Amino acid sequence: MFDKLTKQPVDKIMELMQLYREDSRDGKIDLGVGVYKNAEGVTPVMRAVKEAERQLLESQETKAYVSLVGDVAFHDAMIDLVLDGAVPRENVAAAATPGGTGAVRQAFELIRMANPDARIFTSLPTWPNHLSILDYLKIERVGYRYFDEDTRAVDFDGMMADLDGLRAGDVVLLHGCCHNPTGANLNLTEWQRVIDLLNAKGAIPMIDLAYQGFGDGLDDDAAATRLVAKSCPEVLIAASCSKNFGVYRERTGILMGISADASKTKLVQDNLSFLNRQNYSFPPDHGARVVTMILTDPTLRKMWVDELEETRLGMLRLREQMAEELQKLTGSNRFGFIAQHRGMFSRLGLPSDVVEKLRKENGIYMVGDSRINVAGLNAKTVPILAKAIADSGV
Ligand code: PMP
Repeated sequence: MFDKLTKQPVDKIMELMQLYREDSRDGKIDLGVGVYKNAEGVTPVMRAVKEAERQLLESQETKAYVSLVGDVAFHDAMIDLVLDGAVPRENVAAAATPGGTGAVRQAFELIRMANPDARIFTSLPTWPNHLSILDYLKIERVGYRYFDEDTRAVDFDGMMADLDGLRAGDVVLLHGCCHNPTGANLNLTEWQRVIDLLNAKGAIPMIDLAYQGFGDGLDDDAAATRLVAKSCPEVLIAASCSKNFGVYRERTGILMGISADASKTKLVQDNLSFLNRQNYSFPPDHGARVVTMILTDPTLRKMWVDELEETRLGMLRLREQMAEELQKLTGSNRFGFIAQHRGMFSRLGLPSDVVEKLRKENGIYMVGDSRINVAGLNAKTVPILAKAIADSGV
């Protein structure tokens, strides 16, 4: 049987990480994998997470199964964090999932179950896992223009023109904030226009929210998601706790299905439960429990909000420093977009030969499409990267 298996494509980022590990140069810089790192290059366990885990160790008396959709207290806390009352609680069905990826996967399966003819529109570019999961599930996908390679901002006219091809029942996958891989985001006026178009077409928004708190703050980063939730009759939200709680390996995420008609919530809830059952039965609980404790205990919550804010502001400072350095070195503002982008990533728009040259000659590792993880930098490495980019003559 096994000899019938075919080789799977290698993950580009994992391949890059391997090259980085094998590089023996001292000053090498890793801007590849999408994990937050502090100025010392460490992905820390957040203070509130450590404290919640300590409390949990003392108080937890059983590891018995919870429920097929996880703990309702986790749903409540996350619905509050993401939606903050934008829609009534009874309009939201929810299921805990293994990470944001689990939520994305379950959302795609739910869409396919509900409407096998639905096409899913994805931004050009998007997080590559969106595409590979859709292809694996054999769901038809359509790309919509998103990133303007010249301005490194959103190509909003192109996006709207491509979304004009939506049919009723199609789904549009949107990044709630901090677009991965580009870092370029819609403003709220543009979100409203997208919402109006989707509603006019009878299309359904699906929001992937993986970086709430990494861009402009917890509420600002959720503002678009909240606007969509209260403006559209049906909405799917896949939210990840991996980044904003730093619980990557605990696999903590949630899928929400919102209906304007609350009488549909039970049906959606039953289907989310069914899907969890088919794919992995009970979702992981540890990360979800820790997140719930943090969100519901004022002391832990403050500890978490404060550290998340330090993290966010640290990344913003690096963006500003990078834009300033490049302004000085190139005498132009063409890299000003780095300070405009939000979240952990920016797509720099460098040609692939320059990306390769930076890796080979300078030991600077970024993804082939020139996406950098801003958190891979620190105040000392920013000038090194800026000089290498300026010297490359782009
Ligand atoms: N969506 C996007 C856009 C992401 O960048 C990520 C993390 N790389 C995820 C979802 C899900 O992450 P996780 O499964 O680790 O929670």
